Amino acid sequence: MRLANFIGGSFAPPRSGAYLDDIDPSTEEVIAETPDSDERDVDDAVQAAKGAFPSWSRTPAAERSKLLLTLADLIEKNFDELAELEAKDSGKPLELARMLDIPRAVANFRFFATAILHEASEAHITDTTAINYTLRQPLGVVGLISPWNLPLYLLSWKIAPAIAAGNTCIAKPSELTPLTAQRLAELSLDAGIPPGVINIVHGLGGKAGRALTCHDGVAAISFTGGTVTGAAVAANAAPRFKKLSLELGGKNPTIVFADADLNDAFRTTIRAAFWNQGEICLCGSRIFVEEPVYEKFVEGFVRAAKELRIGEDIGALISAAHLEKVLGYIELAKEEGGTIAAGGHRIDRKGYFVAPTVITGLGCECRVLREEIFGPVVTITPFRDEAEAVAFANSTRYGLSASVWTRDLSRAHRVAAAVESGTVWINTWLLRDLRVPFGGMKESGVGREGGFESLRFFTEPKNVCVKI
Ligand code: NAD
Repeated sequence: MRLANFIGGSFAPPRSGAYLDDIDPSTEEVIAETPDSDERDVDDAVQAAKGAFPSWSRTPAAERSKLLLTLADLIEKNFDELAELEAKDSGKPLELARMLDIPRAVANFRFFATAILHEASEAHITDTTAINYTLRQPLGVVGLISPWNLPLYLLSWKIAPAIAAGNTCIAKPSELTPLTAQRLAELSLDAGIPPGVINIVHGLGGKAGRALTCHDGVAAISFTGGTVTGAAVAANAAPRFKKLSLELGGKNPTIVFADADLNDAFRTTIRAAFWNQGEICLCGSRIFVEEPVYEKFVEGFVRAAKELRIGEDIGALISAAHLEKVLGYIELAKEEGGTIAAGGHRIDRKGYFVAPTVITGLGCECRVLREEIFGPVVTITPFRDEAEAVAFANSTRYGLSASVWTRDLSRAHRVAAAVESGTVWINTWLLRDLRVPFGGMKESGVGREGGFESLRFFTEPKNVCVKI
């Protein structure tokens, strides 16, 4: 299968004529060729998006909403095919793509299609002299850059609010997982979304992605990916005064107090550790357990990790390079004095599979507990009391999410307030309401997405002051 860019409603080969191999991580076979686009393709897409903007931004919200809802219906109609493409492209278990990725893509379009029907704007009355009101107008052409771990889920999380708010967009999916983006382009045509409203340019981050962040015709960049890449995106976009949203990496703590419902904590913590083979930015990769229940928790956790089925519960890692990185961290854990209590090795079969790995005996100063590994690798560390748990949780430069397990209501609120992270789940994990602000503190990001936060990001507030 040879993919194409989607520009102005047509499929076009890359200007360079060059392609990149797209590999199925579970078989290591090439399954498609992805355009290796450059700044010429990005410029073509910007021109198409610019051309479509005046008419799209004036299209009534009710009309835009209808088109987005039609696209959501079409994603649902093609559910099986999209789930299969996603699983093949990313290495994740098919069941997970069916349970998580594709339903969320449908939900993203439905959510923002209806959100724009319920917007209100502020008015500020200045005594008897003036009335101010706030116009929130679309920005124009926006650039959307997404990673490979939740391909359609995250791409649609950006495209839906961007176009719902009246912008036209250029999406740059990860070069490692282009398949569902290509299918989305086709479905957007079937849905009747006008040419140029959604444009998709495939290719490498350092080339196509970089061109998007540097293009003067792009008003804003919404980026989800690694923290180091986020810094490069900011370095290019900030001096050009583009609006920027950065959703970056995480090294999320799971804190289990001795008074927690341990069965529930246990079941959810396993999922938080190993879902999508640990390749979710929100995965709880640092588990802290209060001393009285530590031994029991580790024993059960290790047993459960060993029972996870490779291929069904645990998919393949995205690439050979990522496999090497994850295995490198397991070696580092040993060098740092850790004990491999489960897993710790590649699975002897085709594909980039790593056994679910549990590491004990390391402190928060170790690199394995400070750096994002983004694979099926977790550490479990005991803590003495609440203050130590909070200190451990806050001991990285990341601050994306945290999960806290306790039956003590006051403590739950205290710890939630003290943990430095954009989201804190109490007695749960990955329970998402699309209306809440989503994003990270510290090096996990800048800005928030979700609900009206997304619609605010994709619009420019304008104060209109009318003298009475
Ligand atoms: P990545 O940073 O390597 O790539 C993300 C995207 O950026 C890709 O499309 C890539 O092609 C592009 N890119 C790379 N270099 C670029 C450049 N110089 N300019 C512009 N674009 C460029 O990330 P990844 O490996 O695809 O994804 C994994 C990372 O994403 C992890 O760190 C994970 O925590 C993070 N992530 C964060 C969230 C969140 O919501 N905070 C969600 C999912 C993943």
